[in-house]
Amino acid sequence: MAKKRASKNKLKPKDYKSHTKPTWCPGCGDFGLLASLYQAMSQLELDPSNTLVVSGIGCSSRLPFFVKTYGFQTAHGRVLPVAIGAKIANPDLTVIAVGGDGDGFSIGGGHLAHAVRRNPNITYLVMDNNVYGLTKGQTSPTSPVGFKTKSTPYGSSDVPINPMAWVLASGVSLAARGFSGNPKHLTDLIVQGIQHPGFAFVQTMSPCPTFYNTFDLWRPKIEDLPEDHDPGDLMQAMEQAFRDDMIPVGVFYNQVRPTLESHTRVTNHPLKATARDFDPCELLQSYR
Ligand code: SF4
Ligand code: MG
Repeated sequence: MAKKRASKNKLKPKDYKSHTKPTWCPGCGDFGLLASLYQAMSQLELDPSNTLVVSGIGCSSRLPFFVKTYGFQTAHGRVLPVAIGAKIANPDLTVIAVGGDGDGFSIGGGHLAHAVRRNPNITYLVMDNNVYGLTKGQTSPTSPVGFKTKSTPYGSSDVPINPMAWVLASGVSLAARGFSGNPKHLTDLIVQGIQHPGFAFVQTMSPCPTFYNTFDLWRPKIEDLPEDHDPGDLMQAMEQAFRDDMIPVGVFYNQVRPTLESHTRVTNHPLKATARDFDPCELLQSYR
């Protein structure tokens, strides 16, 4: 459970803004997710001094700079191992991992399935724009077949990864999808993700107007999951994940199961006290 601030004065969304102004292009979809994250943090009354936002590399991975919590921009694709390490060292910390489709599904792809199956109690927000934005518009793991860029001048022949199906097949505890063009709905998903006791994956369709402007392409296809969708039914979730007529949004799957922290029995370990006290030998002994 995310830790609330002790003070009675509730922080407003703007209170979670850092002094660093976002450096994204005007109209970037990532602004929508950032606004939703400020809202979610305020709704949950998160304590900034007990919250860590971790990222990898890419446009969306600049996000920790714009949030007034602890932040850590790691190496390309390494957001999940660092986020999990922080959570194991201090299980009381609210850990939010963020990044893009290139960072998370390409170079960081090997980490995704294993993070999911270990089920650490962290939230992973992926801003998926189907393109590499920071390096100026190359084909990403979620780009469609036929996508023409400087890296694929004749059109991509690679079948795009289906991130939702991937995490479902790996044993994810909570999987949701939102749209940065609908920040209110996205806020609800982020709140549910942070409150969820286990690994929560929130894929956000977050267009890149500079290199692949999909706002007009995606907006008419964004649709709530069916009213009778059962988030406890893995096969229903998988069926929705493979829809290509529409882009369903909402909570695809939600099933609570034991977390990594409960398995490794370090929840009350003295190592959680402070990072300064961290002793790897003690941690190893706790596994014996
Ligand atoms: Fe956003 Fe694209 Fe600009 Fe990057 S290049 S900041 S993803 S609009
Ligand atoms: Mg991208």
